[in-house]
Amino acid sequence: RGFLRERLDPPDRSWVPTVTDVLGEDAVTEVEREGTQGTERGVETTLPMIMTPTYLAWLMDSCRIAGVAFRWTTVQSLDLLVTGAYNTAPPEAVIICGGIRGGELLGGDDEITPVRGQVIVFANGSDDEDGDGGEDGGPVLTDWYVDDDDPENMTYVFPRVDDIVVGGIAEVGNGNEDPDAETAEAILARAEALVPALKELPILGHGAGLRPSRSSLRIEQVDTDEVSIPVIAAYGHGGAGVTLSWGTAERVAEMVEQL
Ligand SMILES: Cc1cc2nc3c(=O)[nH]c(=O)nc-3n(C[C@H](O)[C@H](O)[C@H](O)COP(=O)(O)OP(=O)(O)OC[C@H]3O[C@@H](n4cnc5c(N)ncnc54)[C@H](O)[C@@H]3O)c2cc1C
Repeated sequence: RGFLRERLDPPDRSWVPTVTDVLGEDAVTEVEREGTQGTERGVETTLPMIMTPTYLAWLMDSCRIAGVAFRWTTVQSLDLLVTGAYNTAPPEAVIICGGIRGGELLGGDDEITPVRGQVIVFANGSDDEDGDGGEDGGPVLTDWYVDDDDPENMTYVFPRVDDIVVGGIAEVGNGNEDPDAETAEAILARAEALVPALKELPILGHGAGLRPSRSSLRIEQVDTDEVSIPVIAAYGHGGAGVTLSWGTAERVAEMVEQL
């Protein structure tokens, strides 16, 4: 459960019908409340949240059980991939899900742009005698807080079981993947002003990442003379790739089935 601050007039509530379909009419409540920086307007609601390290490990195991073999290497060209240079069996189709580098094997893509993000990870508690990053007596913060209508100054606080992910930024065109100290200071100042409880909690680490942004998601079969088997592009998910991933996978699976 958490609070989504709204600064736009009218606010974007395009997502509300989907949530109320699942959780019922009372799932999203409009609220006006006194925050640390004056009156905050927004909605309180319950939304699904993924703890990505746990989720991705589960997802990978599920894939293995379904027969997926994983191999880590940089693919230099479609031709090398198809002719077995990476010790794979000859494929019947290739799906390119290369994120920010999704266009590289497909003759380039001028539309793909990095949108840089940066986060600070806090322990969700300070009494961490067992060293697992969490408070041994349970989490300090449970409710999330999002204030991201202004992309220049977006702030979000996502408590998980053992830690709290705090962000953020959305720097269009910045491809720097290293956390930046000045940016961390600015995020920290905004987040601590909104959620003062963070001041008491230890910082576990800093992270930065690039959202693979594009004017729209690219899911299509690509014409290429390089190889004679079908090649499908599936990238450009921007800041919503986790949210969209099952839909993308279903669409790609349908396309492969139709081939
Ligand atoms: C700070 C931050 C916060 C975010 N928060 C959210 C959120 O709350 N909700 C949400 O839905 N999304 C969020 N996102 C966005 C989400 O992480 C991305 O949309 C998603 O990871 C994109 O998935 P993808 O598989 O398309 O690309 P990626 O995750 O980028 O994966 C592409 C992979 O392809 C590999 N690759 C590329 N080229 C080659 C090659 N030639 N050979 C071999 N491998 C190659 C790369 O190494 C990489 O592993 C966030 C992103 C950031 C940075």
